Amino acid sequence: MPSYAIVSRPDAVSERLKERLNRILSDQGFTIAEDCPETVLVIGGDGTFIYAVHKYIDVLDRVRFFGIHTGTLGFYTDYRDTDFEAFAADFVHGRVTEFSYPILEGKTEHETFYGINEIRVENAVRTQEMNVYLNNSLFEVYRGTGMCVSTQLGSTAYNRSVGGAVIQDGLDLIQMTEIAGIHHSKYRSLNSPFVMAGDTEIAFTAKSFAGAMLGADSEVFPLDNARRIMISVSDSKRVRMLKGRNVYYFDRLQSLF
Ligand code: NAP
Ligand code: MN
Repeated sequence: MPSYAIVSRPDAVSERLKERLNRILSDQGFTIAEDCPETVLVIGGDGTFIYAVHKYIDVLDRVRFFGIHTGTLGFYTDYRDTDFEAFAADFVHGRVTEFSYPILEGKTEHETFYGINEIRVENAVRTQEMNVYLNNSLFEVYRGTGMCVSTQLGSTAYNRSVGGAVIQDGLDLIQMTEIAGIHHSKYRSLNSPFVMAGDTEIAFTAKSFAGAMLGADSEVFPLDNARRIMISVSDSKRVRMLKGRNVYYFDRLQSLF
């Protein structure tokens, strides 16, 4: 029997849709499997979608995600709450296609992190000085608050707020964007957002990352004991998403910004 789980944002509209969806799916013979369902149905926003992916990060190869947005249209969702009937029917009748997207893997000497939107190194306490390596060769010495490395999907999130470029759907690229870089006669780094091939390996090294945090989407971790952070597209994990209807990327962008 096909199995599912629902991750929903704790607001009244999302909760109501969750109840309706549970009723429809149980009538259709679907069973709930919280730990490792075939499909995770996400009701909420892009933030909720990202939360859901992190919740199932250990079983990503076995789970796929299908989202409905209770608000605007999202970057991770092609249905709004007013399209609920179509969302449920497309899922029940299998009128969906699976796509998979790369996610970022960040590694320190001690830990591994995953980011669907981005992985950031940020130091709000003091100026972070760090060496930036691209594919193992030293590219620059950077000074500033930090650096944001984002995927195509994450290009419209934090990346965009720090002046990065929006990347069109379907392009296998990663982007590195400075967060308040310092540029004057003594210190200089690229400054502009840098869009790179999807297989580029980025590494940041520093004498100290004291005070710095690693941000992986909505999660943050202290970097006090790290000296080296490697960020690249994950070899082992991708995120599988279902698409029912085809929303044209330019329409999505246009409706949101
Ligand atoms: P959140 O409240 O869930 O998200 C913050 C906002 O970013 C929400 O409006 C969310 O849209 C939107 N968002 C998330 N992913 C997006 C994407 N790929 N494209 C366009 N918009 C997107 O906050 P959170 O849970 O702490 O963080 C989740 C993500 O939000 C992070 O990965 C980061 O990229 C982004 N964020 C951005 C800023 C900023 O731009 N200054 C600050 C904090 C977080 P919904 O309303 O649809 O959920
Ligand atoms: Mn949100």
